[in-house]
Amino acid sequence: MQCFEHRANAAVGLCRACGRGVCPECAIAFPKGLACCSACEADAKELIEMNERAKKLYGIGQYHSNKLASGVIVWLLLSAVMCSTAGYVYVAKGRLDYVTTAMAVVFLIITFIVYRASKKTGIQC
Ligand SMILES: [Zn+2]
Ligand SMILES: [Zn+2]
Repeated sequence: MQCFEHRANAAVGLCRACGRGVCPECAIAFPKGLACCSACEADAKELIEMNERAKKLYGIGQYHSNKLASGVIVWLLLSAVMCSTAGYVYVAKGRLDYVTTAMAVVFLIITFIVYRASKKTGIQC
């Protein structure tokens, strides 16, 4: 593919705004994409920003796994609290408190599910 402006040069990429080929001479580089000229620079920047915002909004890619990883920690802490409460009740009263024990088990199951889900998305990206 050739640069749209400089037919002699080979294109290094595509403008994010208009999709035309750009060469190193006329490319305006962003961290995630290229623009062909100053007229397209603002449009390309906006498109890249929109893309990033959409990713955050729908929880795609790195943002997704980050969110789930912190979710695992929260559920792990809740399970730890419930387990120690159940353990304390057992030691203090000499019998199992069914509500706390059941909640501890439920929290542990949720932690496991969230952990599994976060591992799964981690592989995908
Ligand atoms: Zn362009
Ligand atoms: Zn060019």
